[in-house]
Amino acid sequence: MKIVAAKKILKANDQLASDNRAAFSGQRICCINLVGSPGSGKTTLLEGLFAQWGSRYAQAVIEGDVAGQVDAERMEQIGVPVIQINTDGMCHLEASLIAAAARDLQLTGVDMLWIENVGNLVCTAGYDLGEHLRIVALSVPEGDDKIIKYPAIFQRSDALVLTKIDLLPHLNFRTAKARADMRRLAPEARIFEVSAVTGQGLPELAAWLSARRAAVAAPLS
Ligand code: MG
Ligand code: ZN
Repeated sequence: MKIVAAKKILKANDQLASDNRAAFSGQRICCINLVGSPGSGKTTLLEGLFAQWGSRYAQAVIEGDVAGQVDAERMEQIGVPVIQINTDGMCHLEASLIAAAARDLQLTGVDMLWIENVGNLVCTAGYDLGEHLRIVALSVPEGDDKIIKYPAIFQRSDALVLTKIDLLPHLNFRTAKARADMRRLAPEARIFEVSAVTGQGLPELAAWLSARRAAVAAPLS
């Protein structure tokens, strides 16, 4: 019987992720891993941010989905270079897939490389992809209990973006509770409340990302 230890696989992933991060840093590319449930509004958030910035940054996107290229087509439609990874059943992305996709993408001159992970709040938490920032999107229709139910992904994120907040009047989502639960798990993480419909919160999120990107792009002293 062959037994494969999950710990060993994760360790190999961590090494590849470190290599990815070093390569991105060397090219002054800020890499962001965007995670969240299916339907949490990840792609729409990207569209909103890119519209917010206009031509200020050169963007590139790696789309991770089990099947199909729906999100990649949306990126192409707005003129953003994109590569679609179809995981063929696998419910998360791994660093090796990012390394391969990054080789295929033209990254020269790119300021921000976005990875839209497979919609999943569970195992995406365990895989470092080589990102500088991890952002978790939680749409308010999903409920304010998700932070408590899926702590790992929230604990390991640099920012929580509550999306679709224009729907709050129709829901029982307790924003204060979500904020308190996130604070407990990740005291350093930033929390943003965003609506892609009204544009609320997008300028604040864009400004924070710009500052974080500047820190990655700053020449080493
Ligand atoms: Mg999407
Ligand atoms: Zn998975």
